[in-house]
Amino acid sequence: MAKQLLFIPGPVTCAPAVLEAMARPMIDHRGPEFAGLLERIATGMKPIFGTTSDVVVAGSSGTGGLEAAVANLFSPGQKVLSCPVGVFGKRLATIASLYGLDVEFIETPLGSGTDPAKLAARLAADTKHEIAGIMLTHNETSTGVQNDMAALAAAIGDHPASVVVDSVSGLGASEFLMDAWGFDVVVTASQKALAVPPGMAMIAVSARAWERMGHGKEPKFYFDLRKAREFALLGQTPWTPPVSIAFALDVAIERYHAEGAASVYARHARYSAAIHAFADASCVHVFSQPGAHSVTVTSMHVPAGLEAAKIRTALRDEHDIVLGGGQAELKGKIVRMGTMGDLTHDDMLRGFDAFESVLRAQGHAIDAGRGTAAARATLEGAILAGSR
Ligand code: PLP
Repeated sequence: MAKQLLFIPGPVTCAPAVLEAMARPMIDHRGPEFAGLLERIATGMKPIFGTTSDVVVAGSSGTGGLEAAVANLFSPGQKVLSCPVGVFGKRLATIASLYGLDVEFIETPLGSGTDPAKLAARLAADTKHEIAGIMLTHNETSTGVQNDMAALAAAIGDHPASVVVDSVSGLGASEFLMDAWGFDVVVTASQKALAVPPGMAMIAVSARAWERMGHGKEPKFYFDLRKAREFALLGQTPWTPPVSIAFALDVAIERYHAEGAASVYARHARYSAAIHAFADASCVHVFSQPGAHSVTVTSMHVPAGLEAAKIRTALRDEHDIVLGGGQAELKGKIVRMGTMGDLTHDDMLRGFDAFESVLRAQGHAIDAGRGTAAARATLEGAILAGSR
């Protein structure tokens, strides 16, 4: 049987060199070797975040990094403007509520991105600057939506609120310019576009945010970011770090820069375009709206008469291909196919072949080979056009 291919939007298929790094013998996490490792990770992550400010790590998944952002930046009772575009944006709002923040929402229909004009209008009305925080999602994994972060940054303009960005499933796959966009805390995690096993959150913090964190009155211990920064200066983390994940992340960052950011962006864009071509040719409708399509995960409506769970089970059991399902109100309504991870063109084509044969077997009336041919033409056409 061929290897199982993960097309879920994280954890993703990891390169053998990344996995092999995890088998290295343990080192002293308070010794010079770990200090070098931590330094390489922080330095290597900065251009990926688009920042010259500090990047600290936490031994946690992405959610820990998001909780850290809330717990460190704010004080109970402060108002934050939450702009959810799906499950993960709502989860960040829930964290903020649990920390006693006064959460106001900018609502967005599922499948769309946050409307920059709505955000600009709400901030313009905040003449007393009561809004202390703005919470944005770069890439909403549950709906396959990617926000236009440059437009949202422009909408925020010079409003003084601290801007927290969840880029757990976005960072690395397309250009991100934290400093130019004026964001304060940006969070990502190891198991997404960087294609490392889960276990580490990477948190970039602006100079202004470090200053503000000195006044934050929320309780925090494990996720005290100022403590993380103090220890980072010593080449350490405050608590025992996931050393094996750090080994793997170090290798993944080196591979990322060797491939080159432009090439990594083009790869995700190319794979995402291939999924769209496959969907169009297979009479499967993409769920996200034009202008809001994610490059890391494409959400597709389940064709009429078919069942998401049956499609996914057949793909897994008969083809060793794993696709994501819908979450919350989209459960059973969509399937999601990711582009992140160590996936070759042949891997993508294997996924399309399997997807098409399961759709046909379960009664979706499409011609054999049509979807895969469209995806192949897109993959090859993009290469001929020089988009590598
Ligand atoms: N935010 C987004 C956009 C995500 O996609 C995820 C996970 O898929 C999370 C937050 C939560 O991250 P984790 O599962 O690593 O805690």
